[in-house]
Amino acid sequence: MNITATTRPLGLLGYPVAHSKSPQMLNRVCEILNIPAVYLAYAVAPEQLPQAVAGMRAMGFIGFNVTIPHKVAIIDLLDELDETALEIGAVNTVVQRDGKLIGYNTDGIGYLRSLQEETNVDLTGKTVTLLGAGGAARAVATTLAKAGIAKLVIANRTVSKAEELAAMTSKWTTTEAIGMENIADTICHTQLLVNTTSLGMSPNIDASPIATELLHSKLLVSDLIYRPRETKLLQAASAVGAQTHGGLGMLLHQAAVAVEHWFDQAAPLKEMWEILERE
Ligand code: NAP
Repeated sequence: MNITATTRPLGLLGYPVAHSKSPQMLNRVCEILNIPAVYLAYAVAPEQLPQAVAGMRAMGFIGFNVTIPHKVAIIDLLDELDETALEIGAVNTVVQRDGKLIGYNTDGIGYLRSLQEETNVDLTGKTVTLLGAGGAARAVATTLAKAGIAKLVIANRTVSKAEELAAMTSKWTTTEAIGMENIADTICHTQLLVNTTSLGMSPNIDASPIATELLHSKLLVSDLIYRPRETKLLQAASAVGAQTHGGLGMLLHQAAVAVEHWFDQAAPLKEMWEILERE
């Protein structure tokens, strides 16, 4: 990498960030697209977020990614939000344009691109059951609700959060909120089951969000978790003959859409994927 006095900064704001593959992936993107920029990961504690964002603004950052725990708190520090970020109520990508910081959310569209690319699913008229109602669920639920599905059922341990998300997405499709204990009644009518909970994520790889005997062969089972690549839920789904979809493609495509926002050109998906696939 040829860093000069005109090289501009990009970065990731999170807490912690040491596990992130974004620096390897995004610096490779800059190299391939011949963009004089460097991408670094910044571990910023919540109470330091305003100072960090003011510094990025003053130092001419092209933009930055935002991850846990800052995706909602960042909103008050930005000048504008695009429509999707506004609908989801969270930001994972910021672009600095003419001195203004503009917030986007690429998680939902990244998820949808990955799902369609890897499974070819036609979502029209489908019943979707979403497990979880946290930050990732908000992005995925909003995007799926707008994608022509017939019904979205949201199941969560804390039912009030499922109810809140069901109300939020009900302007685009029929929605229902249930507790995790009532999942058996809905799963037989479900075509797409999406796990957005952290259950099954490394190191707790023996956990699964639902009893695996509830799975059936007509399901497409999608898991946002990407460590491990194949969760216990996906293993059980494969074993009953269901189609499966893992979380690594979402990670790829949410970054690819951020690249499109920053540089106004397509991301080099193949090279980005190679970096993500490395353990
Ligand atoms: P979050 O906001 O903390 O939400 C966590 C969700 O999991 C909540 O619905 C929570 O239920 C549920 N949950 C956690 N522990 C549980 C337990 N023991 N029993 C039942 N439910 C439990 O987290 P997030 O940011 O949405 O992330 C969720 C997962 O998505 C993580 O595994 C993350 O790695 C993955 N993710 C992947 C991508 C990607 O690019 N592939 C992007 C974003 C996130 P309560 O509401 O009841 O607490």
